[in-house]
Amino acid sequence: MAENRRKTAITPTREDDYAEWYQQVVRQGDLAETSPVRGCMVIRPWGYALWENIRDRLDAMFKETGHRNAYFPLFIPKSYLEKEAEHVEGFAKECAVVTHHRLEASPEGGLQPAGELEEPLVVRPTSETIIGATYARWVQSYRDLPILINQWANVVRWELRTRLFLRTAEFLWQEGHTVHETEAEAWEETVRMLNVYQTFAESFMAMPVIAGEKTAGERFPGAVRTLCIESMMQDRKALQAGTSHFLGQNFARSSGITYQSREGREEFAWTTSWGVSTRLIGGLIMTHADDDGMVMPPRLAPAHAVLLPIIRRDSDRERIMAYVHKVAAALRQERFDGAPVRVEIDDREVNAGEKGWEWVRRGVPLRVEIGPRDMEKDAVFVARRDRGPKEKTSLPWKQFVQNVGSELEDIQSSLFERALDRRERHTREVDTFSQLESFFTPVDGARPGIHGGFARAHWCGREECEKRINDELSVTIRSVPLEEEGFTEPGKCICCGNESRTRVVMAKSY
Ligand code: AMP
Repeated sequence: MAENRRKTAITPTREDDYAEWYQQVVRQGDLAETSPVRGCMVIRPWGYALWENIRDRLDAMFKETGHRNAYFPLFIPKSYLEKEAEHVEGFAKECAVVTHHRLEASPEGGLQPAGELEEPLVVRPTSETIIGATYARWVQSYRDLPILINQWANVVRWELRTRLFLRTAEFLWQEGHTVHETEAEAWEETVRMLNVYQTFAESFMAMPVIAGEKTAGERFPGAVRTLCIESMMQDRKALQAGTSHFLGQNFARSSGITYQSREGREEFAWTTSWGVSTRLIGGLIMTHADDDGMVMPPRLAPAHAVLLPIIRRDSDRERIMAYVHKVAAALRQERFDGAPVRVEIDDREVNAGEKGWEWVRRGVPLRVEIGPRDMEKDAVFVARRDRGPKEKTSLPWKQFVQNVGSELEDIQSSLFERALDRRERHTREVDTFSQLESFFTPVDGARPGIHGGFARAHWCGREECEKRINDELSVTIRSVPLEEEGFTEPGKCICCGNESRTRVVMAKSY
């Protein structure tokens, strides 16, 4: 039936080769490209503008919850990392290490590293240890607490299997690092920031997530508890989209963050850390993009509408451009999501069809074609990116301008509903191990690599049963609902039949 299929802007389609489709959406949507450095990417202006919107929104949310930004060094002395045993063990395998501080002529020609450092420096894979050493100096008394700081930075984890945005060796992120007087306060902060991530993912990214806890085996190295948001991608695999760690007193002990309590005793402080990265862009793509390319949720889109003048005769140019600028100016007077509507005019002298498809692939929410006939009718020809590429409507331009805010709202909520509906259709309650196995086994006719989903099943909490699920099915426990939030639904473990407090989410994952 391939010959009946409409020609898509992206080949292959999701159905034909999901992994390659993803790479093509990234490339052809002008989001990013691979670089000469293995595992590192070049983020192109259109992709970076998306990241800036993500960053600005999150930054505002962090500030509303009392945090401030600061900046700490890129390099971490090796001895700092070594202070927390589990932490160093978790990150040792993927560290970039700086051992020299200059280059000199080599006898064989070219240059060679010289000036060996006394102590190697690790390029930060995460900053708990270097920030902890600083906090140890800042904190003396309970009066110095809490410390609520976030840093926007790049980090390096020498990942072996990389994929643009989803898993790169260098990535951009934010890392919050907080210090508290009590365990309860630190826990409250851990949950608060998980909620911030959930709100951001759902309200801005239009990406439904499940908030919960990681199992011991999936915890951040050195954390007491790791909370996370997990989202279902279009191939039904789970993506861990953000984490919030309750670090207990582990890092306070290893970094020496102590304070004089209200009773005059010397106590170790309680710390948390939390982060999201450029992986969120990978999540956006795999949630919303289609066989024609990227689909941007309006609240994060670098442009809400692109105006495409269609000029067939040079003599029309001036009049059409004047009309286009009039429409653009009126659109910019309108507001969406608390700010003026973002409008671009693409008047490059490129074939109109080509140009239209470029904006389809970039995922701009509204495409507005304006040619001589539209102008004569005081109209515009509008296409919504969340609908088929041929579905276009002619509207009086004033009506279009007046309704642009509600149109964008409607796109934003339709994208969320569509993603939520997909997740619900592919979430199943599973009560036995063999049901779990068949849920994750492709049946005849299933699209290659696209099957399964989220299985909600009982698990006793034992590592042994978790391991069996991992080893036999390559499925992991993605999220355990929080007991503190009242999630309890007793049952029997699907592996061993022992008591289970609640169902957990099991899935294949990125
Ligand atoms: P972690 O410090 O391991 O809890 O990770 C913090 C955030 O960074 C999480 O939201 C991860 O999804 C994300 N992340 C971890 N490793 C990578 C990577 N190699 N590339 C992009 N994002 C990552």
